[in-house]
Amino acid sequence: MIPKKRILMSVPHMGAQEEVFVREAFATNWLSTVGPNIDAFEKEFCDLLGLEPGCALALGSGTAAIHLGLRLLGVGPGDEVLAPTLTFVASVNPVGWLGARTTFIDSERASWNMDPALLAQVLDARAREGRLPRAVIVVHLYGQSADLDAIFEVCARHGVPVLEDAAEALGTQYKGKPVGTRAPVSTFSFNGNKIITTTGGGMLVARDRAAVEKARFWSTQARNPGIAYDHTEVGYNYRLSNVLAGIGRGQLMVLEDRVRRRREIAFRYRDALADIPALSLMPQASFGRHTNWLSVLLVDGAGGPDRDALIRALNDANVESRPVWKPMHLQPLFRDSETVGGDVAADLFARGICLPSSSNLTEDEQNHVIRTTRARFGAQ
Ligand SMILES: *Cc1c(COP(=O)(O)O)cnc(C)c1O
Repeated sequence: MIPKKRILMSVPHMGAQEEVFVREAFATNWLSTVGPNIDAFEKEFCDLLGLEPGCALALGSGTAAIHLGLRLLGVGPGDEVLAPTLTFVASVNPVGWLGARTTFIDSERASWNMDPALLAQVLDARAREGRLPRAVIVVHLYGQSADLDAIFEVCARHGVPVLEDAAEALGTQYKGKPVGTRAPVSTFSFNGNKIITTTGGGMLVARDRAAVEKARFWSTQARNPGIAYDHTEVGYNYRLSNVLAGIGRGQLMVLEDRVRRRREIAFRYRDALADIPALSLMPQASFGRHTNWLSVLLVDGAGGPDRDALIRALNDANVESRPVWKPMHLQPLFRDSETVGGDVAADLFARGICLPSSSNLTEDEQNHVIRTTRARFGAQ
């Protein structure tokens, strides 16, 4: 039986307190980009990550956070920035806005994230040529941490700063610690499809509170102190509103529950499809807690249905699914960029499929996805 309501990949899931905080904003008329919800949201976010108050800046999007973060690291015209090829375009669009260029690095199989061995090769080679990149962007894909020890070791050896793009990885841990706390700058997203949402929003996190204040200054049009509008630097209109920060506060309260549920959904897919050799869940690297923000499968198409056949079957059954991110080195937008490796990311893209993973996915809905998948692979 095909459900009337389409089963989507990842949708918002509100808790009990979001509306309370939003109503408070209305009742007190804090309906702009200042107010108690923003201050509390930033403070509570710092608490969650185990950081001092003042280390977080709430913004209108994760992309805005990456833009400000790269500027904090000094990225500017003519610079090179290294980033994984397997990511969402928002990780690297701000590199171009700052007049810099991205060199793309392939994934490793164990985590699907940036391959630390390839990164070391590139940094060693650049050091020999005397032209080190300005920064390295590390992405924690689909809720799984990159191998941070290896990546930070080689970056520290060459003195190149890291930006952690943790847009998909709120709640993710590396060796027991939350990701997004180790780099000089890290960024998060509260877009509507992420593990928690403010309908749209982001957070910049930095241990150096002076850096956070600098980004705060840029995010509000870089207005110099004083009553007149006096400017010496370029700024942006990037702040989150106090209304949406209220949604964020409520969502932080239920984050652990959302992580638990997303993991449960992923492991249910894994177990329910375990007898189909052509299907496997994205690996769960031993060094971290993978939130499985999205449940991602690899399809081994040899002789049987391939990834696209499965997407079509699910679509016919009113289920949304999508390929894994199309790697940046395969995007026409980046046809002139340099890439190191790329075959692993291309393979993951060709065979990877993201299944419905919302934390409010019902058991019946997941059963329908599982039944449809099993049927396509000729299993009962
Ligand atoms: C969602 C996402 C972003 C961008 O966040 P927005 O809040 O949508 O601007 C950046 N990087 C990655 C890897 C993402 O998945």
